[in-house]
Amino acid sequence: MQQEALVINNLSKSYGNFKAVNNISFTVNKGEIMGLLGPNGAGKSTAIRIIMGILSASSGEVKFLFNGDSSVLDKSKIGYLPEERGLYDDVKVLDNLLYLASLKGVPQNEAKEEAMNWLERLNLANYANSKLEKLSKGMQQKVQFIGAILHKPALVVLDEPFSGLDPVNQDVFKEIILELGRQGTTVLLSAHQMNVVEELCDRIFMINKGKQVLFGSLKEIKQGFKEYMVKITYQGD
Ligand code: ADP
Ligand code: MG
Repeated sequence: MQQEALVINNLSKSYGNFKAVNNISFTVNKGEIMGLLGPNGAGKSTAIRIIMGILSASSGEVKFLFNGDSSVLDKSKIGYLPEERGLYDDVKVLDNLLYLASLKGVPQNEAKEEAMNWLERLNLANYANSKLEKLSKGMQQKVQFIGAILHKPALVVLDEPFSGLDPVNQDVFKEIILELGRQGTTVLLSAHQMNVVEELCDRIFMINKGKQVLFGSLKEIKQGFKEYMVKITYQGD
């Protein structure tokens, strides 16, 4: 029996007459890796910010069902990699991570051990005591990724996690995301390239101009995706 972890019902967000998100609905099951696919400006980040409680919806609802119970947004159970950087430039890498962990209620000792393990795995252990601003953009993205998963959240929301990352590190991220799914963590990740979601996602929700274009497993949507690409290439949408 599939267990629902995140339910999005008829979600919309308007800015004046413009609908950035237009009546989208989908469900993410526990342990599922769901791709939110769409070109730039499709409405991915807007939808994600509503899910994260950063933006309010114009209409519709977001439900979290951790442990089968319907619950309100509990940020200690969610990890979030925002599209924009959410770290402190003039603070050391490890201290940035410890600060994020403290917001999620992780005891300091535990957080430190976890943070060092992840920094090790992502080849950043030598930078633990460097100020964040000394790191390249790709390295900073890795620190932010660690910040999203350090506290072992039940749901991880990643907004274009591969942006600014070289292929080797993209593979490392992919491996970790697949591992999270196997461990029962629910993952929602946005991307604007098909090949990214193709390798990772159990199901894909494709959005354009705020609206659902396709929704289903890769197998289910692949043909529709091809037809859609032909349509927008030759006829515009
Ligand atoms: P994506 O993440 O898929 O690239 P976004 O969710 O960031 O797309 O944006 C969707 C659309 O909403 C874009 O056309 C964007 O310009 C518009 N938009 C986003 N935020 C605002 C805002 N605060 N006011 C007006 N329009 C906005
Ligand atoms: Mg975005």
